[in-house]
Amino acid sequence: MEALHDNSWHVKSADEDMKEATEWLQKTEQLEKQYREELAAAGNDEQKKIEVVRRIADQVGMPPRLALGVMNRPIVSMINHYYMHVKAADPTPSQSSVSLWTCKTCGTENEGVFCKECRAMRH
Ligand SMILES: [Zn+2]
Repeated sequence: MEALHDNSWHVKSADEDMKEATEWLQKTEQLEKQYREELAAAGNDEQKKIEVVRRIADQVGMPPRLALGVMNRPIVSMINHYYMHVKAADPTPSQSSVSLWTCKTCGTENEGVFCKECRAMRH
């Protein structure tokens, strides 16, 4: 297969990398949609935003090298930032770093930003 346009994405033997990056991006976009409301509600609150990004990042893993080429997408740079700074600074394994909180409104125990029962924000 001969590529007509020789741009930086079509370097030789990058097919595997490209496939990996494409799949990672698709999964990330899907999760971004899934967590859209949480991300929007977090707004400029870094702590809350990182909490949502952490849940996405834990599911998709580190961005493959080529995925970093689309760092202009906020979600990609947020996940990269998470792995470079937040996770790197926290040596605790993710399964034990989950901090549970009990919703005052309905009494449900939660680990996310929002109550899974009544959607109240963590307080
Ligand atoms: Zn609740």
